[in-house]
Amino acid sequence: MLSDMIYWPGEEPGSPPREPGGAGKPSARVLIIEDDAGFAASLRRLLGNAGYQAEIARSGRAGLDRLSDFHPDLALVDINLPDMTGHEVIRAAREQDRDVPVIVVSGESEIDAAILALRLGALDFVRKPIEPEILLHSVARALAQRCLEREHKSARTRVDRSERLHRFLVDSSPDIIFILDETGKLSYVNQRLRDLLGLEEKQVVGRHFSRLVHEHDQKRARYAFSARKLAETARHSVELRLKSRADATGFRHFEINLAAVGFPGGSEMTGSAEPGYYYGVARDVTARREVEELAVYQANHDALTGLPNRTMFRDHLSLALIQAHRNQERIAVLFLNLDRFKHVNDLFGHAKADELLRQVGERIQHCLRGCDTLARFVGDEFLLLNASAKSDAEVLAVVERINRELAEPFKASGKSVHLSVSAGIALYPEHGETADALIRHANIALYHGRLSGSKSHTFFMQEMGDSTDQRLHLQGDLRHAIRHDQFEIYYQPQVDIRERRVKGVEALIRWNHPERGLLPPGEFLPLAEEANLIGDVGEWVIRDVCKTIRQWDVLGISPPRVAINISPRHLDESDFVERFVALLAEYQVDASRIEVELTENLFIRDPSAVAQKLQSLAAHGVMIAIDDFGTQYSSLSYLQKFPIHTLKIDKSFVWEIDREFRQHAIIKAIISIAHGLGLNLIAEGVETDEQLRFLELQGCDEIQGYLISKPLRREALEALMIQGMGSMPTP
Ligand code: C2E
Ligand code: CA
Ligand code: CA
Repeated sequence: MLSDMIYWPGEEPGSPPREPGGAGKPSARVLIIEDDAGFAASLRRLLGNAGYQAEIARSGRAGLDRLSDFHPDLALVDINLPDMTGHEVIRAAREQDRDVPVIVVSGESEIDAAILALRLGALDFVRKPIEPEILLHSVARALAQRCLEREHKSARTRVDRSERLHRFLVDSSPDIIFILDETGKLSYVNQRLRDLLGLEEKQVVGRHFSRLVHEHDQKRARYAFSARKLAETARHSVELRLKSRADATGFRHFEINLAAVGFPGGSEMTGSAEPGYYYGVARDVTARREVEELAVYQANHDALTGLPNRTMFRDHLSLALIQAHRNQERIAVLFLNLDRFKHVNDLFGHAKADELLRQVGERIQHCLRGCDTLARFVGDEFLLLNASAKSDAEVLAVVERINRELAEPFKASGKSVHLSVSAGIALYPEHGETADALIRHANIALYHGRLSGSKSHTFFMQEMGDSTDQRLHLQGDLRHAIRHDQFEIYYQPQVDIRERRVKGVEALIRWNHPERGLLPPGEFLPLAEEANLIGDVGEWVIRDVCKTIRQWDVLGISPPRVAINISPRHLDESDFVERFVALLAEYQVDASRIEVELTENLFIRDPSAVAQKLQSLAAHGVMIAIDDFGTQYSSLSYLQKFPIHTLKIDKSFVWEIDREFRQHAIIKAIISIAHGLGLNLIAEGVETDEQLRFLELQGCDEIQGYLISKPLRREALEALMIQGMGSMPTP
């Protein structure tokens, strides 16, 4: 089938090559170029009788013309023609690319001319007057030779073509294909060499293969390419790096298949004098290798800091333990934690905090020796394997060195950040004999030490038990709690000072832990942040509050406003606003009934991202309150820039009212700022009549605190809403 055949350049598809065999048969065509009509006719008769097809041309010109329409297999050319010599005919024929074989016919007197014709390529000459036998013999021989030549030529074209084909295949192979002689020198290599190794054929042919091999792989190459090795398997493969000028790393990875060819074979090959060669294919596996190497790297390193991760740390520690056991040495495992880093995280946001963690990793690394391993465990926790410290004092010196190195303030968003570490320390062999036990005990020591403040260092003691297990346990419980609605929202009234009416309530979360009873938010929210569950908890709160408002609306007892606390990390989530608004819609809660309470920290971090979210919340009608106002961030410019409705004076200021006169000044200032900007003002943590009186005098709008009401369970608040605030104390 034609469609199955590949068209090869230079071959007309559909036109089969001319059959060369016909020339030797008697049907061969002979052109007689002869001006002597009688002689020509007798020649034609003679040839015709012998079975040839003969035609006559009476001049050189006419003869040349006939070459192209008669296609003779042979021409009998007279030396003496009226318009040109026989030589000229031969030359002209060649110029026309008509390589028809010629027998010259000449008289005795023209013998020199005949010899010249032979030199020009005529096959034979026949002397006039001709002997029929001799002529026919000469014609037959010339045609036979012609036939042979043609066959030879077509065979050569076929060989050429197939060689071109093979070369094409070899050169367009994605692999480097090469041949080594019996001494290992390259005797052939395809063009792929240029693309992959940046080398030209002539730079390598004749040289030993080993010159291409990367220094580190020389030994393996020598072994793999050894004649003995090859003799064992006849064909085998090896992965090697070859030097590459085309690559920035200076090498590429290849999988090389080598086969011995032309040797007598078997193990006698080595001693054999028979010449043989090796045929090799080198496949570029660099991409695969890089992916594998990257995977191995990623499995063992922390993506943020590039330090080893805990998997690699455990491996290093396990190895070090074997060595320490053998040499009866001590090993210290230090669990390092950055003091108050959560604060930094809230203040500057994840991206900046991550950058700081990276820098911390680098600085700690500076304090270490070659035999120490620093790893990032998780978050702001690092692990340090200290194999060089012999005594407790030496271990503590390492911690001190690290804190000295960290003492120079870090920079974030143009601000100075002071960082330090606390360390929990477990020693081999006294605190544990396995990697896991040492890591766990160092962690326990750290958590015990944390209570004593920053830059603490604590050695593990058996009495400490496994309190971290409890923490982990609690995190597990927390996930369970979210799924099983173990939380409960308490509501604390916010009351208008003059009218003594409930203007709003603040929703405050509690956890009804099945074993540990009612837990305040301070006991589990930090844990939720650590475990990245704060968004889930926050969403639980929003949903529960919306559900409740919906039911209050039906009963007609809704407080005008409900405040929800939002953790900065929850607000950070990219779809926070969408999800918030979607929940309001789901429960048909009017956004203008909701106030979100946010802390000032927020405004130090990426202000444009925060601004966008706040604008969007405000655009939906949600009100925004600044919680714990006055405790964190001194710039007030954000009050004008952001859509803020309410300031909540922190309870620490309120509590100072009774005692310190200076605080009065601060509260007065806050109240006048709020009023100047038209903001609503709520004083938190109001516990005494005196505080209430002072706040009323200064013109504070609302108060919230134990004096009016503690946070109440939902039923209790409902009762209060139904009764009204009659029981509220009057100043
Ligand atoms: P906060 O937002 O400053 O809430 C006010 C806290 O002060 C509440 O503590 C409240 O019970 C307490 N409080 C109110 N009046 C008085 C008073 O007169 N005297 C004293 N001593 N305390 C008073 P609580 O409920 O333990 O909440 C602690 C913190 O937990 C809250 O501080 C808030 O930051 C956070 N929180 C509570 N619920 C949630 C929540 O649903 N989501 C988020 N993200 N945080 C919440
Ligand atoms: Ca609050
Ligand atoms: Ca507060």
